[in-house]
Amino acid sequence: MDHTTARERLDSMLAELDRSIRVLTGEPVAVRERSAADAGSDLTEADRAQAMLDVAVSQRRAVVNALRRIDDGVYGECVDCGKPVPEGRLEARPEAARCVQCQSKQERRR
Ligand SMILES: [Zn+2]
Repeated sequence: MDHTTARERLDSMLAELDRSIRVLTGEPVAVRERSAADAGSDLTEADRAQAMLDVAVSQRRAVVNALRRIDDGVYGECVDCGKPVPEGRLEARPEAARCVQCQSKQERRR
């Protein structure tokens, strides 16, 4: 995938994520349910919204980082080992910063 295509896809992902984050942070239902969560109920609407927000925020960070790597001319290289990230992986996840091996190592560390 060339950098122009990658940038276009990342830009539209970023717009999409910004929209989701706006919706999630401004969700009136979530705000109302939060007091129920404080009262001690289990997995509420607010918890789910918060979980989705966490995912969206970390995804957004990955997309922003990927755009930065395009600017730096290192997009498509694994940030850990420097080997090229396979094309198919970038197709599926344009924001991927690591090759599959380094990613699974990273996930085990968590
Ligand atoms: Zn790697």
